Amino acid sequence: MAQLIDGKKISQEIKDELRETVAELKAQGKEGALAVIQVGADPASSVYVRNKKKACEYIGIRSESYELPEQTSEEELLALIRKLNNDPKINGILCQLPVPAHMDEDKIIRAIAPEKDVDGFHAQNVGALVIGQKGFVSCTPAGIIQLLKRSGVEIAGKNCVIIGRSNIVGKPMALLMLRENATVTVCHSRTKNLPDVCRQADILIVAIGRPKMITADYVKEGAVVIDVGIHRQEDGKLCGDVDFAQVEPVAGAITPVPGGVGPMTIAMLMHNCVEAMQE
Ligand code: NDP
Repeated sequence: MAQLIDGKKISQEIKDELRETVAELKAQGKEGALAVIQVGADPASSVYVRNKKKACEYIGIRSESYELPEQTSEEELLALIRKLNNDPKINGILCQLPVPAHMDEDKIIRAIAPEKDVDGFHAQNVGALVIGQKGFVSCTPAGIIQLLKRSGVEIAGKNCVIIGRSNIVGKPMALLMLRENATVTVCHSRTKNLPDVCRQADILIVAIGRPKMITADYVKEGAVVIDVGIHRQEDGKLCGDVDFAQVEPVAGAITPVPGGVGPMTIAMLMHNCVEAMQE
């Protein structure tokens, strides 16, 4: 049976550590505040926003909510971001994605001051990651590094295969695994012989957005499997991009969905907020 990598437990550990750090920073007179912007009322986004605000409360930083109507213009949103960039009481700004279709997502991300970009999406922060400089790192991949390290998975020298090359998961994940001295392969929709490539992996990280696509054929006996996908099934239950029932007997260690990568994303957002407080 595979070791279950418990994201719920590890994210709680991280939040407890951050809570202590925040208390110490407060004792030195430093306060933290995260501005959370949501445009429109997408139900999934509302759940994420609520969970982020709850996490802020838990670790002891203030969150300020900006709930804007769907028909808000891009200029109005940019004006709010500019105001928050210039507000010394705010040290982190987060705009919940996706924004409505009439807005240019890249322009919104670029507008957030890099030193307040706690999502780690701004080109300056991504560039810093590429060249190994300090900056905010995208929360989901940063959380996966913590999951691996805190579960005792050795990364250096291992073959790591990542499926997915999105800007928020696949690409930063590849850079982080490279930083940890893994040998990294990145796969995508044009990759040939995907199962063969995946079977080379000691660590397989799956971020494709297709429910249960990864079956036992993709997994080498004893490999560590990290499932980033989240999907709501017809019966209301959640599942990942990995077919857990099939893969678990083959894997050496595996993350469940829910309770694997998901909770880590918010824990690492809090980590970035605490880093922003220390600037
Ligand atoms: P994207 O849709 O942006 O990227 C998906 C990637 O998978 C693309 O690079 C695409 O290739 C590749 N892909 C799609 N189909 C195939 C295929 N058949 N074979 C090989 N590669 C394929 O998704 P995200 O990275 O944003 O998210 C991935 C998943 O993770 C989603 O389920 C999302 O909900 C979840 N997620 C979970 C988070 C969490 O906190 N747990 C946070 C973020 C995302 P190509 O580039 O060629 O199109």
